[in-house]
Amino acid sequence: MDIASKNVAIITGAAKGIGRAIALRLAEDGFDIAINYRSSSANVKELMDEIENKGCKVIAVQGDVSIFEEAKNIIKRAVEVFKRVDVLVNNAGITRDGLLLRMKENDFDKVIEVNLKGTFNCIRHVSPVMLKQRSGKIINISSVVGITGNAGQVNYSAAKAGIIGITKSTARELASRGINVNAVAPGFIKTDMTNSLSEKIRENTLRTIPLKRFGTVYDVANVVSFLASSDSDYITGQVINIDGGMVM
Ligand code: NAD
Repeated sequence: MDIASKNVAIITGAAKGIGRAIALRLAEDGFDIAINYRSSSANVKELMDEIENKGCKVIAVQGDVSIFEEAKNIIKRAVEVFKRVDVLVNNAGITRDGLLLRMKENDFDKVIEVNLKGTFNCIRHVSPVMLKQRSGKIINISSVVGITGNAGQVNYSAAKAGIIGITKSTARELASRGINVNAVAPGFIKTDMTNSLSEKIRENTLRTIPLKRFGTVYDVANVVSFLASSDSDYITGQVINIDGGMVM
């Protein structure tokens, strides 16, 4: 894969789960890494050590992506230290599941604020940097439920569908300046987010997966690695499902 040795990637919500796996994978690919985490720095030191052991520079920036000024600071810190940003991975996300008739207003707002507005905030602040460079890759983590919908996830599926809209509109706006914008739509990936689901939901979901297994964080990190590399230079505005064939 043709990646200059010291390109720079920012990954939001990277302290654990899919974000952590993406940070490690992009470090293996030769990127210097800026990891963002929201509040707990418990796992962050260990992750930074692992990235450094791969021969890459790493910084960690605390910040809530749903707050415009905090998102600005995440990008600003990365630029201060590394002088450039080649890849932004909008990974930070939350769920607050519940049926429509029982969903509290705050549960809707929070999920939209973190998943959808957080993605906008980071793209908004990284775009001037990438426009100046005339290059960059933005990779947004959507979800298959943003395509199909899901009972009990009106808030989350709306946010993830919105991310697909942001991806396509931004791809159109930035394409002429050498910036690619794509999304991945994972299905059921084994992380803390899905560990909390009931055994019944897990069994029912497994039945809908043609490849007959849940996804791993590495399944997602592999595709993000491809979208971050020059191998995907002719791909923009696309949504790639990583779901074992769940949605086709
Ligand atoms: P996770 O809960 O393990 O990780 C989410 C990360 O986002 C955490 O580190 C958390 O601290 C961070 N985060 C939450 N709110 C934040 C905020 N306001 N600012 C900054 N960081 C914040 O979940 P995961 O499964 O690793 O999910 C990663 C992404 O993948 C999310 O966008 C999620 O919606 C998406 N996704 C996950 C699955 C799955 O099956 N696990 C499927 C489809 C999409």
